[in-house]
Amino acid sequence: MSDIKSTDTTNLNQSGKPRVRFAPSPTGYLHVGSLRTALYNYLFAKKHGGTYVLRIEDTDQSRLVEDAMERLVRSLAHMGVNADEGVLLDGELVVEKGEYGPYQQSHRLSIYRQYVDELVAQGKAYPCFCTAERLDTMRKEMTANKQAPKYDKHCANLAEEDVKALLDAEAPHVIRFNVTPGEDIVFTDLVRGEVKINTKEVDDQVLLKSDGFPTYHLAVVVDDHLMGITHILRSEEWLPSTPKHILLYKAFGWKMPEIGHVSVILGPDGKKKLSKRDGGASVDEFLEKGYLEEVLINFLVLLGWNPGGGSTQEIFSLSELESIFDLKGLHKAGAVFDHKKLDWMNSAYIKAMPLDELYNRIEKGGWFAKDLVQFAPTDMQTKEYLLKVLAVEQERLVRLDMFGEENPFFFQLELSYDKGILAWKQNTEEMTREALEKAFAIIEKFTDAEWVDKAYIESVLLEAAGDKKGDFLWPLRVALTGAERSPSPFEVLYVLGKDHSLERIVRALAMLR
Ligand code: GLU
Repeated sequence: MSDIKSTDTTNLNQSGKPRVRFAPSPTGYLHVGSLRTALYNYLFAKKHGGTYVLRIEDTDQSRLVEDAMERLVRSLAHMGVNADEGVLLDGELVVEKGEYGPYQQSHRLSIYRQYVDELVAQGKAYPCFCTAERLDTMRKEMTANKQAPKYDKHCANLAEEDVKALLDAEAPHVIRFNVTPGEDIVFTDLVRGEVKINTKEVDDQVLLKSDGFPTYHLAVVVDDHLMGITHILRSEEWLPSTPKHILLYKAFGWKMPEIGHVSVILGPDGKKKLSKRDGGASVDEFLEKGYLEEVLINFLVLLGWNPGGGSTQEIFSLSELESIFDLKGLHKAGAVFDHKKLDWMNSAYIKAMPLDELYNRIEKGGWFAKDLVQFAPTDMQTKEYLLKVLAVEQERLVRLDMFGEENPFFFQLELSYDKGILAWKQNTEEMTREALEKAFAIIEKFTDAEWVDKAYIESVLLEAAGDKKGDFLWPLRVALTGAERSPSPFEVLYVLGKDHSLERIVRALAMLR
């Protein structure tokens, strides 16, 4: 039994800088977990002045999705995680850049062929002619005998002349890796520490499929090596594949990059990987719901990493993370996606944002064009008006798409509400009417110049209320908003303006007659 040690902590390329990669299989959308993996690689490269490569792993022909690569690259660049090398966005164009290309695996088929031929020539891999039926029967028998299903090496034991005859006859076949059972594979995972797996558990993996395409295992090893990758950070879903990769590096006589497996993002049950059913799993879904790009980044990085040193800081910009990111802070345990925390973080960013910028972001996202605003009277659709509403809402707005939702009365001419809610506590209709008439008389007298001063409006009304604040201000606020809960009457008056405000008081009074 021999031990294969695969870790060398000084694993850097000639320039002494790390080269890392994010290697997605384009599925048509960017999962938040993939974005997080991309971010960890990107941050590690930035922190150490290294290179972050984007390679496209598109060798599974059955899972190809039209435009998927292009969309993925654009999504990543949109999030500010553009690659230094590989497939990346240059201006408006998706291009390939770098000396180690092509960076799309489907364009590298001849390279894989060459390396797999080398392994076959050395007896480290072999052609397998087994039919799907034979493999199926074999697996069923193994399962019935309570064995883990694994290829039985049938074709590794074929006579040389039989293999030659089959190859000459162009019999369909795959190429399998010839794994020697019984070795212990030990490696130090950058996140998990020492991991030990016995090759008894490692299958004779298919390296090249019958269509001439490599499997993920062959392609990932060949490419990471040829592209000079020094550190691999990937999802823990790939941990079971790592022993196969270590054995492949050994078979080729190559040095294994350092490797770390980051925990998966779990859905609310804390067990299964976060999926669409858990209220969204793709980056686009979150953006469409009005979460900010910088919030998703901040949130995702902290979901599986912390800055250490007892720090309780939770708000980090991407550039801040670029300077402090450290592999030591990566967590082993799976991280549960906490929607409440995401909401909290989004509202914290919204609160801290300059009003103009907040306005521009909502406009760009198309949220002002939603029905609520679109069907409002035209004077309630002006930028000036929307900015005023936004100033009121900013404090409590959780997501950009929720603009106006809490306070629809800002966009409606006629409010429908039960007149019963106009009265403060047990006050009579008579008392309510008096309060509203008094408010009307005061508001009517405000000049245009006074109206622009929110503090002045507030001081005059507060003085008029005296020690009867509820009796006086409650009916006014309900008349203006039609709601039992809303921002203060002063804020609402200021936003609505004199005419709309008086009109609402008149309507309320009419309900009381
Ligand atoms: N192509 C794999 C994926 O889609 C990448 C695995 C790796 O990083 O080695 O996740």
